Amino acid sequence: MTISGSWQRTARGAGLLAPDGRIASTIFAEMSSLAQATGAINLGQGFPDEDGPAEVLDAARRAIADGVNQYPPGTGIPALRQAIAEHQQRFYGLRVDPDREVLVTAGATEALAATILALVDDGDEVVTLEPFYDAYGGLISLARGIHKTVPLRRPDFLPDHDELRAAVTDRTRVILINTPHNPTGTVLPRETLELIVELAHEHDAIIVTDEVYEHLTFGYPHIPVAALPGARERTVTISSAGKTFSTTGWKIGWIVSTPELVTAVLAVKQFLTYVNGAPFQPAIALGLALPDSFYDGIAATLQAKRDLLSQGLVKAGFDVTVPHGTYFVVADAAPLGYADAATLCRELPALAGVVGVPISAFCHEEVGQEYASLVRFAFCKKVDVLERAAAQLAQLARLGR
Ligand SMILES: *Cc1c(COP(=O)(O)O)cnc(C)c1O
Repeated sequence: MTISGSWQRTARGAGLLAPDGRIASTIFAEMSSLAQATGAINLGQGFPDEDGPAEVLDAARRAIADGVNQYPPGTGIPALRQAIAEHQQRFYGLRVDPDREVLVTAGATEALAATILALVDDGDEVVTLEPFYDAYGGLISLARGIHKTVPLRRPDFLPDHDELRAAVTDRTRVILINTPHNPTGTVLPRETLELIVELAHEHDAIIVTDEVYEHLTFGYPHIPVAALPGARERTVTISSAGKTFSTTGWKIGWIVSTPELVTAVLAVKQFLTYVNGAPFQPAIALGLALPDSFYDGIAATLQAKRDLLSQGLVKAGFDVTVPHGTYFVVADAAPLGYADAATLCRELPALAGVVGVPISAFCHEEVGQEYASLVRFAFCKKVDVLERAAAQLAQLARLGR
């Protein structure tokens, strides 16, 4: 039997299907099983190894006990939509109508999927930064869009403004950005965001902005695109509770946009999951209303973890780019004698008992070369785990390759 649907096309395009039709293992899966097989510390996958705020976890338990276990409303429970609107006002001064401008989704992933499927037609171009979060490539090809990228240039991983101008044309339907940026840790500066808004107007494109790390920045303020003049009416803002509250398994995300765009996205979303996470929704509503001390606390804790791991990587001999946000740090293995980060990542469990992911996993094959010696390490792990990882990595310097 020949199977040829959207998934097969996407999977082949994204290199997920082997020639024999079986699902090829991704470097993420390969590295995670390597960590398991060797007992190495897994800094490859980006999920926290500690629970988030107890009051948020308790609220979910209470909701289950109270019988909040059936389908919630299609757009999300009113209390959560209200909390999202209040969050946008409190942190960014944005006035949002919780009934018409907010949509709760099954994580940022469903928000991205529904938005791209709603907005992108066969042959429409979608411009993203590169490296890019892996789901972007798959979703653009599911929508039969054409994926164009603008490279983030070293040493700061910022896009060149001329390259950005050249990438956006009248064929561009969506400019999909991610700030703070996974995997580089870049926080896009105001000038770049202003240019993106200008280009979106000039070419009548829609801005989709993935801001799941909005609260994880280290002295560099996160600027939501929607807060810039002229941006709001053509921007879909996507965020999620997973990273902020260390609840990546709950899959509570959301969209904030105009009533017209929310309706367009809802039209697709209703046939993806319809709804999800009934007892988690009131818990996240409570979380979003936590005092500033919570938000300051998570950023400060994470910054200390960033510094701890970065020091270990520097001692090991990597060239480290200190991230301004997210919980990832990019380290260049070239000074260690590794031109190919994938090779280092395969050897690293034996050499230092640590697992990372090559940045090429977040790139198209053709441009991966530029980032060939870079590795992403996650630092959303317990302090003692990071201390051990840093000490083990420091041993690498003695190998003197
Ligand atoms: C983790 C992540 C997501 C997915 O968020 P979920 O809420 O778990 O679906 C989306 N975008 C980026 C950049 C991420 O790092």
